Amino acid sequence: MSTPATAATAAADPNETWRTRYAAAVMNTFGTPARVLVRGSGAHVWDADGNEYVDLLAGIAVNCLGHAHPALVAAVTEQLGTLGHISNLFTSPAQIRLAETLDALVFPSALQASRVFLANSGTEANEAAFKIARRHGGAARPRILALEDAFHGRTMGALALTHKAAYREPFEPLPGGVEFIPAGDVDALRAALGPDVAALFVEPIQGEAGVRPLPAGYLEAARELTTAAGALLILDEVQTGMGRSGAWMAHHLLAPGVVPDVVTLAKGLGGGMPIGAAVATGEAAQLLGPGQHGTTFGGNPVAAAAALAVIDTINKEGLLKRATELGDRWAAQLTAVPGVTEVRGVGLLRGVGLDDGVGPAAEVAAELEQRGFIVNPPRPDTLRLAPPFILSDADADAFTSVLADVLAERAAA
Ligand SMILES: *Cc1c(COP(=O)(O)O)cnc(C)c1O
Repeated sequence: MSTPATAATAAADPNETWRTRYAAAVMNTFGTPARVLVRGSGAHVWDADGNEYVDLLAGIAVNCLGHAHPALVAAVTEQLGTLGHISNLFTSPAQIRLAETLDALVFPSALQASRVFLANSGTEANEAAFKIARRHGGAARPRILALEDAFHGRTMGALALTHKAAYREPFEPLPGGVEFIPAGDVDALRAALGPDVAALFVEPIQGEAGVRPLPAGYLEAARELTTAAGALLILDEVQTGMGRSGAWMAHHLLAPGVVPDVVTLAKGLGGGMPIGAAVATGEAAQLLGPGQHGTTFGGNPVAAAAALAVIDTINKEGLLKRATELGDRWAAQLTAVPGVTEVRGVGLLRGVGLDDGVGPAAEVAAELEQRGFIVNPPRPDTLRLAPPFILSDADADAFTSVLADVLAERAAA
């Protein structure tokens, strides 16, 4: 594969030299990444050695329009050249337009007014939702329920809602009152709920757990039971939202009758610009009052302009339909590959289950990367695909065929 001139300019040093510099300068929270990326265009990225990859992870379900989409570049450039940052002592047309747009997008059928809190990331969106939960019922409702295998983020409140012990235990004590119940178990939910529960947090599909859907009917039961107990239903759509499922929100697709109290968003929302949102309706939209929450950057004009451009482009380019059609066709193809046990998820968020005989998913992912495809292994038996919605049929088909080769070689080895 060729070395594009721009990549050569941007990366004076080769991949290995950059990695050495990274290891010396950056805290070791991620290990040292294998690739130093220098350029992206559409669904493709290039590393510092000039190698080209098809990006089937999109910055972990973020770059829904791909890399350097002209509409996003133009919106961000124009906004930054007009008004970049103002703090929340002021507001801007971009912020207000985005708030109105998100209220309608997340709660198209809500009977009550909806409101948004704009933040900068998924974990911050969940921190806002955590505070809303605390404000709901106050001291009379000290308990908050979350699901086993849930991932809600890494800041202390969101971390308290995240199930994985290895993430939580080094940082205890965390904010109290959170209890984990088995995912998808309606009886367990019924048993755990009571008048002292403030909220239930649920991902409509558990992304970090390996793209694991909940059983059909669970969200409906969760709505019914939380309403009966007077608790809030908070859906974390940070990974599943903003069209990745083929609908604007995964819960619109998976449980069309369910209206949650709060929905959290981030990842795809800014198409690569950092932004998060907690969108609430009804009573939950009124619970945070003056002085009770804040952020310097949240809702800044540039991030807001990016999110508006993402929504506009998804509409104009018909990308919800694209995510559904490509996702369905690709999943059917991948299911037929020997060594693949199942393909979970919807739209362009897919977990590809691997047979024991092909070895750990991390090794399969590393081999796919060698052959020019970026995916990741959220579990030892699963590859995650969360590509840009603009991914071409040719790139999707090429992946299927390379995956088939890699799995066949590994099964034979
Ligand atoms: C990624 C993710 C988060 C955390 O988002 P950050 O932007 O990394 O803080 C929270 N919830 C879910 C479901 C996620 O997938």
